[in-house]
Amino acid sequence: MDSITLARSLQDKDTSRSALRAIELAKARVPVEDLAAKHTELRRSGSSLRGKCPVHGGDNPTAFVVAPEEGKFYCHACGEGGDVVSLYARLEGHDNMKTAAAFLLLEFGFEPPQRPQAWFGKQERQRPVRTFIEQRVFHNRRRMVYRMVFKDRVAAVEDLFGPEEARAAYEDFWELTEDVVKMMEERTMGRRR
Ligand SMILES: [Zn+2]
Repeated sequence: MDSITLARSLQDKDTSRSALRAIELAKARVPVEDLAAKHTELRRSGSSLRGKCPVHGGDNPTAFVVAPEEGKFYCHACGEGGDVVSLYARLEGHDNMKTAAAFLLLEFGFEPPQRPQAWFGKQERQRPVRTFIEQRVFHNRRRMVYRMVFKDRVAAVEDLFGPEEARAAYEDFWELTEDVVKMMEERTMGRRR
């Protein structure tokens, strides 16, 4: 599977409202050229910017094109292309676009979006019925993922923005652990449709 197909399938899989909000928020707030400029030197060329591709790491100084007005990037050498969130996901190795969007927002000093109460209620209703033991196992896995992946991030947010922002970040990341554990379970069991 090539990377564009992979990115598309991952995006298709995660179309929940909160994921879309995080992705749209990241696209609106973080200019693709600002992210690209952190990873490669860009030179203006007409309405676009060009540089060496930070995704595949080639030497061609014009292969990687960023179109700031469209919020898009494209590499003529490796064929990689997309928006600011997919660029961040490729550069940082995120499989999940929602997670990538949340980290991207944090990296640029924005908070990931908060969920409306209605969204929580909907998630609650849609959640499959799990036995008590399954719930505990699931919860313990989420705690493990939180400790391994997100705990340091929340500590960093607290240092930078204080306890209120850290609390909001904690809630967002805690919610993300549910997606991460579900993805881990799906991979372990294979896809069942
Ligand atoms: Zn490339």
